[in-house]
Amino acid sequence: MPDTDDPLLDHLSEVQISFIRSLLGVHKRSVLAPLYTETGLAPLKYRRIDIALRYLQYAVECAPDTYVADAIADSIALAASNAQSWFMDLQLVILKLRGPFALSSGRDAATQDIELLRSRIEAHMGQEFSLELRNNKKLYLLLDRKGPACAMRGYLKILNGQHREALTRLLLSCHTLAVERLRWVERYRDYVPYAERTCRLCKTEVETPEHVLLVCPADDDITSLRGTYLERMAEVHDALPEWMADGDATAYLRHLLSLDISIALTAEWIYDTMLLIDRQPMLVPAAYIRRY
Ligand SMILES: [Zn+2]
Repeated sequence: MPDTDDPLLDHLSEVQISFIRSLLGVHKRSVLAPLYTETGLAPLKYRRIDIALRYLQYAVECAPDTYVADAIADSIALAASNAQSWFMDLQLVILKLRGPFALSSGRDAATQDIELLRSRIEAHMGQEFSLELRNNKKLYLLLDRKGPACAMRGYLKILNGQHREALTRLLLSCHTLAVERLRWVERYRDYVPYAERTCRLCKTEVETPEHVLLVCPADDDITSLRGTYLERMAEVHDALPEWMADGDATAYLRHLLSLDISIALTAEWIYDTMLLIDRQPMLVPAAYIRRY
């Protein structure tokens, strides 16, 4: 049945969202779009419309003397005369996607190119996700990647679960660094402005993934780990540009993350670095600590 009742669809979607979050190892505050862009799965809202359209395609192609063909012809005729029917519900849920397409009613409804409509809906879903990735500052590490907006990403096939989850959390901004955690308002802490989410190690720069992984000089273990990792990467990739400490750390990190062949190595480096930084408590500016 088309999902004309949003609260009912929400119940189903909650199960899907919680399942994907658990699969990826991210927390329940994680942004929704990457759950789909990283796995290639479609939100149920889209998935269930696609299933209904595939059924419609099957039904209109059935021989004229079958019950299915009669039923779908009736449903289309009812919708064309502005009466409620399964077909009208399907039109409605497609309309609610607010895309540049519609399931037309009337005599040509049965013969329209359903295949084309399905692909336009899928493209619309990809555009919605691309827009969200672009507009959400938390997802900057997922920007400007080659290929389709939604796909099963290579890094999800990393065998070591801890390394895979550390990388996933970094990409989806579900890590434990101050740039993310100090955005949260908690019982004993107010929202901390971006510029004051200071690195717990050097106490000067903002504690971002690119700063901790590539720039921060304050912890010997982390800098040594960085050096070893970059040496190993240079062995794997002959053409890898050398990392300069004053370079664009975000761009360089994005480049390292785009190198699929060495992604397991990168995930291990991220996991080990995050373990090291988590040994020290996060720096919370006193002005934002709530006292009761
Ligand atoms: Zn630092």
